[in-house]
Amino acid sequence: MPEGDTVWRQARSLHKALAGRIAHSTSFRYPNVAEYDFSGQRIHGALAVGKHLLLRIGEHSVHSHLKMDGIWHVYGVDDNGNPARWKRPAHLARAVVNANARQDASGQLVQGSTPVSAVGFTLGLLEIFPTTEENDRLGYLGPDLLGADWNPALALENLLAQPERPIGPALLEQKNLQGIGTIFRAETLFLAGVHPMSPVGSVPDLPRVIEIAHLLLVANRMRPKRVTRTDREPLWCYGRGGRACYRCGRPIIREEISNLGTGAERFGVDRYVQTEDTTSRISYRCPQCQVMYGEQV
Ligand SMILES: [Zn+2]
Repeated sequence: MPEGDTVWRQARSLHKALAGRIAHSTSFRYPNVAEYDFSGQRIHGALAVGKHLLLRIGEHSVHSHLKMDGIWHVYGVDDNGNPARWKRPAHLARAVVNANARQDASGQLVQGSTPVSAVGFTLGLLEIFPTTEENDRLGYLGPDLLGADWNPALALENLLAQPERPIGPALLEQKNLQGIGTIFRAETLFLAGVHPMSPVGSVPDLPRVIEIAHLLLVANRMRPKRVTRTDREPLWCYGRGGRACYRCGRPIIREEISNLGTGAERFGVDRYVQTEDTTSRISYRCPQCQVMYGEQV
């Protein structure tokens, strides 16, 4: 599942490619948004809000969420000046924004500028609403780890509002704070030395946990490959089930967790419990380096 840093990078590349251009044609391929057409309207730019992406065109905001495997691509023209071929099948496209070559203030084409297309494939969510409604629509979300207005005190307050909730699921809850997916959760809790099932209220230094997550996301937002450790061995524990912990040598545990408890200790899963969605269950931890604080749920 894309994490906040991925969405941030995609928003940035959309912004660089499109901001200030005029839309030549647009196409939105979900029933709820199919009637929108922004031909001839100015594209103001794109931004990420946690894992949500907003593309502002004219008076409207195109709101998408990548969910499982959504992605935005930007395409220019090929060597012959024709639109470049898409790298994913056309039937997976959910949003297409074709933009004219850049014009200067007097309407002259900027030399060397060519048309571009932004295509959103397999978007998990796509809706369009007036830009003035952005705050109302997204206001239920917690502070954004990669936002200009990142507010760690509010994230802390949100997390502590449910002190009995295990910290693993709580960190993925976008109403608490935005940007953490299963990878950064695993890495954050490893570096903090905290067992993911520890109740939020019993974690001794919760601000430090939040700070680690923030540092990891900021450090990774410019990189295509996630690194929390070294380029050669990029991750401390995510994806390393059964392999030796870099710190203590004990095998890393892969398990499924939810608000209610943990699954099998190793590899297989023998206890399925209620949770938000399948991917959010996947969790990795070191049995030695990560401490279970408070009562086991
Ligand atoms: Zn360890």
